[in-house]
Amino acid sequence: MTKIFETPLYPYRRSPDQDAMPCARHPVVVIGAGPIGLAAAIDLAQQDVPVVVLDDNDKVSFGSRAICFAKRPLEILDRLGCGDAMVEKGLTWNVGKVFNDKRETYRFDLLPEGGHKRPAFINLQQYYFEEYLVRRVRELEEQGKPIEIRGRNKVSALSDNGSFVRLEIDTPEGAYNLEADWLIACDGANSPTRRMLGLDFVGKVFEDNFLIADVIMQADFPTERWFWFDPPFNRGQSALLHKQPDNVWRIDFQLGWDIDREEELKPENIDRRLRAMLGQDIEYELEWTSIYTFQCRRMEKFRHGRVLFAGDAAHQVSPFGARGANSGLQDTDNLCWKLKLVIAGKAPETLLDSYSDERTYGADENILNSTRSTEFITPKSEISRIFRDAVLDLAVHYDFARPMVNSGRLSVPCTYDESVLNGPDDPALPKRTRPGAPAVDAPLDGGWLLDRLGGRFQLLLIGADGPESLTESGVEIEVLRLDPAKNPELGSRFLGDAPGAIYLLRPDQHIAARWTAWDERATRAAIRRALGKE
Ligand SMILES: Cc1cc2nc3c(=O)[nH]c(=O)nc-3n(C[C@H](O)[C@H](O)[C@H](O)COP(=O)(O)OP(=O)(O)OC[C@H]3O[C@@H](n4cnc5c(N)ncnc54)[C@H](O)[C@@H]3O)c2cc1C
Repeated sequence: MTKIFETPLYPYRRSPDQDAMPCARHPVVVIGAGPIGLAAAIDLAQQDVPVVVLDDNDKVSFGSRAICFAKRPLEILDRLGCGDAMVEKGLTWNVGKVFNDKRETYRFDLLPEGGHKRPAFINLQQYYFEEYLVRRVRELEEQGKPIEIRGRNKVSALSDNGSFVRLEIDTPEGAYNLEADWLIACDGANSPTRRMLGLDFVGKVFEDNFLIADVIMQADFPTERWFWFDPPFNRGQSALLHKQPDNVWRIDFQLGWDIDREEELKPENIDRRLRAMLGQDIEYELEWTSIYTFQCRRMEKFRHGRVLFAGDAAHQVSPFGARGANSGLQDTDNLCWKLKLVIAGKAPETLLDSYSDERTYGADENILNSTRSTEFITPKSEISRIFRDAVLDLAVHYDFARPMVNSGRLSVPCTYDESVLNGPDDPALPKRTRPGAPAVDAPLDGGWLLDRLGGRFQLLLIGADGPESLTESGVEIEVLRLDPAKNPELGSRFLGDAPGAIYLLRPDQHIAARWTAWDERATRAAIRRALGKE
């Protein structure tokens, strides 16, 4: 049977743009049909912003790449119309276990609280993830939305001319030029766009190697994340096990720095490692194996004139914590509503600088967490190793040591605490829903709160009085009246002890400002601020 990653999902087709004279101009061009470029394009097209995606390939990603997708990106994907497909195919998990040698040292539940539509995580192969995004693109095309993917269109040169970007594109039928008012570069870790603009990263490379094997086998481990320090089957190193759909298991073996890559990748050596871990009698088939090292780094700014960087092109982290694609989706969620308002002339171009500010802040949080995990997993000095081993021993018996065990702090949503777009806060209200935070989900009238939020500015009147409708600076604000008496989790998550509250939400479901009583002047000022106008 042909696997999805072997099938051209967006084969090359000649575009009229290849014969256009003068060359065609599009409002937005996205480079890269990886998870982040596809998400950006879907988001824009859903909002009727015309978008063209260029990719040098015509298939979804292959090889061992992302498998863990977190709650916040799933909530974003719900808004993009593909959350259900992913959650149905993916394997849901909330629990992780950490072993030291053969002993369970620590166990965590990433979603101990009920009343959320989405789980803490699903495991799903990146090739399925991208397939569902491509399917969503096709659905939008059928609905007449302005979206197009061009396979085997490789961007080979570009220049930012101030008011537009000019691209040179290679295809199987020769080269052509295209212009874009705005360019979103989602062309991955080696981003040719970054290179062509002479831009670089700040950050560091970690000196360690990990062998990844995606193994097809029947096994009865539970759907949990299992992480071992110093297991008998990989002495002095670590290992990680995750279940994926279709009986595929992701196994990571830490190898150390000074290794012979070719030797390690020989089937007999991989077989020896797998049998030591899973038992001599195990029957399995290998889907893929690879050895990777990693880097924790980001670009200094994600906006360079008319070029906006997102996903791995803008930042990279180690896979411990599953923060790569998960944070890239938060990039596009942050960017697309701003770009739409700028294109519509309803917000100044400087609003796009807040994209860079908010998402470099998010990237720093991810890099910090990812670096700390990496340093714990692969201690680089004798003293760090002694500390690490002491924490692991203590964690078996003492609660205080458990939070110090760091086998990867898994992706959580970013709260833009220092954003210039944030308006007033009322400290009487719960901390978790403060300005800058994404709205927390809650059961609402038999459905889910987050299914009612996003895609536009909204004013939530939660047990509070307020206007019937509101328009500010040409932007219509949707007013939603929500009843905390009928929806107790809504009350506890958004009101705390206050009798009522008013929340201003951005189109990416992040909270912009909140009050305990209606104040028209303050609300209008907060909207202008969230539009980058104050
Ligand atoms: C081992 C491993 C495990 C991981 N696990 C996780 C995980 O569990 N969870 C998680 O969230 N993340 C994980 N990641 C990270 C995740 O895979 C990446 O963050 C994600 O793929 C980034 O998506 P992207 O769209 O930014 O870039 P990419 O997926 O790299 O896509 C870039 C696209 O740009 C195209 N392109 C490049 N150059 C050009 C050009 N000149 N012209 C046209 N097109 C071009 C490429 O063909 C490609 O389609 C993991 C990564 C690895 C390596």
